[in-house]
Amino acid sequence: QAKKQGKNQYKLFDAALEERVQKAIYIEERLRQAILLKQFELYFQPKIDISSREVISLEALIRWNVNGHMIFPDEFIPIAEDKGLIGKITDCVLEMACETLSQWHGLAHLKNLSIAINISGKDISVDNFFEKLAGLLKRYKFEPSLLELELTESALISNLANVKDTLMHLKNLGIKVAIDDFGTGYSSLAYLQALDIHYLKIDRQFVAALLTEPKAEAIVQSIIDVGKNLGLGLIAEGVEQADHLARLDAMGCDQAQGYYICRPLPLSELIKFISGQRKCT
Ligand code: C2E
Ligand code: MG
Ligand code: MG
Ligand code: MG
Repeated sequence: QAKKQGKNQYKLFDAALEERVQKAIYIEERLRQAILLKQFELYFQPKIDISSREVISLEALIRWNVNGHMIFPDEFIPIAEDKGLIGKITDCVLEMACETLSQWHGLAHLKNLSIAINISGKDISVDNFFEKLAGLLKRYKFEPSLLELELTESALISNLANVKDTLMHLKNLGIKVAIDDFGTGYSSLAYLQALDIHYLKIDRQFVAALLTEPKAEAIVQSIIDVGKNLGLGLIAEGVEQADHLARLDAMGCDQAQGYYICRPLPLSELIKFISGQRKCT
């Protein structure tokens, strides 16, 4: 009986695995088309300066539009990374972001707004990555410090020596770099010492527990203190309540981002949000 059950379980697992493999193959095929047809769209979510409540930066978040149906990055970015397609997607995103920054360049009310884009560990380990950015800065006219790249800890650690050089070159170009989801990866203090970065983005899991779990509050305060002592800017993500914002302000955090402030929106809607209430909340 047990043997029979075991066999059935094995079959069940097999079917689930098979389904996942089929789905990944399907997504891979569609992704190749999407890259050719440029079916990607950027949504933008504001980051505010906590003391002035002003929107100072927008994070670009990719969306894949398949016949009016929206697919979120968590579903296709890992597959794109796995199948060697991420570089082309990043090119698309960089292109769109730089074009937008160059359009804002002449506009008084938008010209100081920066754009942050998410970069995969696969991108940053490609040898000529900074040359690609240098090329974009030549082609599009805008202040380089308005372009921010968000990298996760795992992306940084994968090839530390290589990444160190790349980040140095990016700094020389004037581009800013943030560590995304800080506190959930390796959180090695050695790389904070070694690497040229500008911002730490405190992961939303700590922000979510900030008001209810003393340990989470202690962790957030410690990240803020380490960041401040190193001269880095601190950004809290996943701010969903007014009380989060008030506490982060009291704790010395610089910037905040989250549903309480604004959800990710298509650019046209976001511009309306900014124009209507450049000072939000
Ligand atoms: P991330 O960079 O940490 O982005 C934050 C994610 O949290 C976004 O999900 C955002 O919509 C969501 N979020 C924002 N505020 C809140 C909040 O208050 N509460 C909660 N629960 N969630 C909030 P999204 O857009 O689905 O992106 C997921 C991840 O996909 C991103 O995490 C990033 O790692 C990756 N990603 C997004 N766009 C790109 C891209 O263009 N290229 C690459 N390589 N990765 C991207
Ligand atoms: Mg991010
Ligand atoms: Mg994040
Ligand atoms: Mg994340």
